[in-house]
Amino acid sequence: MAPEGRIWDVAVIGAGPGGLFAARALAGKASVLVLDEKGRTGGAGAMTDGKLNLSPHIGLDLAELRMGEEEARERIAAIDEAFLRHGADPVVYGEDRERIDMWLDRVSWARRKTPKGEWDITLLPARQRHMGTDLAHRVVGRMTESIASMGVEFSLGTHVQDIRLRSGGPFVLVTAKGEVRARYVLAAPGRDGAYWFRNTARRLGVETRYGSIDIGCRVEVALPVYDEITRVLYDPKFLFITPTHGDRTRTFCTNPGGRVRLEVRDGFRLVNGDALKARKTSNTNFAILNTVSMTEPIQDTTEMGRKVAEFANFWGGGESVVVQRWGDLMQGRRSRADTFHSAVMEYDKMTPTLPLGAGVTPGDISFAYPGRIVDNLRESLMLLSRVIPGVAHPSTAIYIPEIKFYDTKYATDKNLETNVPNLFVAGDGVGKSRGIVGAALNGCLAAEGILRKEGKA
Ligand SMILES: Cc1cc2nc3c(=O)[nH]c(=O)nc-3n(C[C@H](O)[C@H](O)[C@H](O)COP(=O)(O)OP(=O)(O)OC[C@H]3O[C@@H](n4cnc5c(N)ncnc54)[C@H](O)[C@@H]3O)c2cc1C
Repeated sequence: MAPEGRIWDVAVIGAGPGGLFAARALAGKASVLVLDEKGRTGGAGAMTDGKLNLSPHIGLDLAELRMGEEEARERIAAIDEAFLRHGADPVVYGEDRERIDMWLDRVSWARRKTPKGEWDITLLPARQRHMGTDLAHRVVGRMTESIASMGVEFSLGTHVQDIRLRSGGPFVLVTAKGEVRARYVLAAPGRDGAYWFRNTARRLGVETRYGSIDIGCRVEVALPVYDEITRVLYDPKFLFITPTHGDRTRTFCTNPGGRVRLEVRDGFRLVNGDALKARKTSNTNFAILNTVSMTEPIQDTTEMGRKVAEFANFWGGGESVVVQRWGDLMQGRRSRADTFHSAVMEYDKMTPTLPLGAGVTPGDISFAYPGRIVDNLRESLMLLSRVIPGVAHPSTAIYIPEIKFYDTKYATDKNLETNVPNLFVAGDGVGKSRGIVGAALNGCLAAEGILRKEGKA
């Protein structure tokens, strides 16, 4: 790691897309050490589906970043170019105007006005590139080599336990391998490190506030059900306003020919999904997410999400996610192992990619999840079935919990510097992005902020 006594210009915590793109922008202009507790770079982004959302309206909050659409487009194009240069697939989805218009017409026909005068279903077309879980890590590997060749150093397998700051001195990062000193710290801890960083940042006096949290389910359908749209829009973004509660939900992270995956985070078992580039399954999965904000008496959305995850796992028998067939959910009964593949119920028409067994229990999501969220998820799928009828087939599988822990917000300036001077933040773990491209864009902004302070921008 670092020679004792050395003071780095910048220590970057996290080698996900946020940290990597920051390091890339700083390379050659500052001495940079990137620390990651994993033994590899790329964070969550390298080992996952690797869909690059190339729209300023997806995975980014332009208002939070105080950024105009034009600037966001330019920055996204530069990030896309970097992925392409390191071997990302050249195919871009979402450019066939004629077929996109056909889908927009279909949605216009199916949608209805809510009592508040808004449309209950909207489709948001977007350009997307798909790297695939099997190829994304190679792209990230090449990118890491090129960043390292520009002088950036990496300390992998290094968990940062604490960040300390003495007045006038550099930051001190405490790790099991020794202390690291740096004049600037850029924290890009991702969702894995979000809870740790929140506690650490608060001890340093960083201002934080609670944002909204996305709680939802993973839906798995037979490939032909969704194929017609995913050939045009790889990850179609449907936005819903639910009839009973008037809440906002949306589809997220679609994986045509993909797999439902277990995600272990902070001791909880969550669901997620991905797809390989080379080998496809006979199913498609996507998430439906319900955005939840809280005011009083509780505002802490992270704690709320943790409690929801814990309770859902409890209903799975302790350390398990819960899966329910749509047919069972609509009949008000739990799913059971002995009928899970029943031909009589037509459940044999879709064999889930995440098999029952270790970590996956058939059950009843309406016991395991808050009532309002279950209503919203059920109604969202019904709304979607107006446009794509097959999603409401009895064999459709619904998995919970799917929760996105990017809810703590940090007060920063436009360059993502916190109120603690020289402490910058970036990426999903600090609520500034919700995806690979967004996190990468954050990293670039923070790096530019550091260089500007150094008079090198
Ligand atoms: C299964 C799955 C599929 C996904 N598919 C997509 C997709 O198709 N498209 C998309 O845009 N997004 C996808 N995502 C989300 C995407 O991975 C994230 O949005 C993105 O990786 C966020 O980047 P980041 O740099 O903020 O954080 P991360 O990529 O999470 O990186 C943070 C890094 O910080 C490290 N870290 C945390 N705390 C510490 C500490 N204390 N000390 C040292 N290191 C620490 C972690 O080990 C991690 O490597 C997916 C996520 C999952 C889990």
